[in-house]
Amino acid sequence: MMDKYLSANEARAAIVEMGHRLIEKRLVAGSWGNISCRAGQQTIAITPSGRGYEHLAPSDVVLLDNTGCVVDGERIPSSESKLHVAIYAACPEAQAVIHTHSIYASALAAMRRPVPAIIEDIVQICGGSVNCAEYAFPGTQELADAAVKALAGRKAALLANHGAVCWGKSLDDALVVAEILEKAAQIAVICSSCGGKVYELDEADAAAMHSFYEQHYSKRQMGEE
Ligand SMILES: [Zn+2]
Repeated sequence: MMDKYLSANEARAAIVEMGHRLIEKRLVAGSWGNISCRAGQQTIAITPSGRGYEHLAPSDVVLLDNTGCVVDGERIPSSESKLHVAIYAACPEAQAVIHTHSIYASALAAMRRPVPAIIEDIVQICGGSVNCAEYAFPGTQELADAAVKALAGRKAALLANHGAVCWGKSLDDALVVAEILEKAAQIAVICSSCGGKVYELDEADAAAMHSFYEQHYSKRQMGEE
């Protein structure tokens, strides 16, 4: 089934709702982190800079073109707009991008270590271990480029000393990636604090699980199968 784009109004409302869900799920705090989704082939809807998710209204959501220029909205777009724009350019399947500052993903990002492929659900969702991007200053093109490089065929990457970024084929799909990434990061931190040997899943098994998930399970969740 072809991906259907949200209208600008649908995208604005969906971003506000997703902001509430990220707060509920403790994946972001205050006005940190940011959310975007496609609202057409040439348009990206994104959260504004410096506004708490509790107080966000659909009219606060800013519309950008594919180069990051504002095409509609009163507010200043997220300071990480370059990161979002770069991911849509690099990942044609991406319909939504969520950047979180979740605790365990940030813990691994502070150690500049990947989320290892040690649990089946993260492998199903992401296809294997999740890289940590090289450090770059927040809001810069360097950070956007480093994140795209770290994504390399995955739906998530850690941002060194910062947090995580995930993309999905819908906002709901990106949220699943963010939640499973945080859970896998938590398990990795627990394992490393226990000091025992951790067994990584075999690459071929990981690829098979990911492809099965992409072909069947994710479509079933989106009601396409
Ligand atoms: Zn951030």
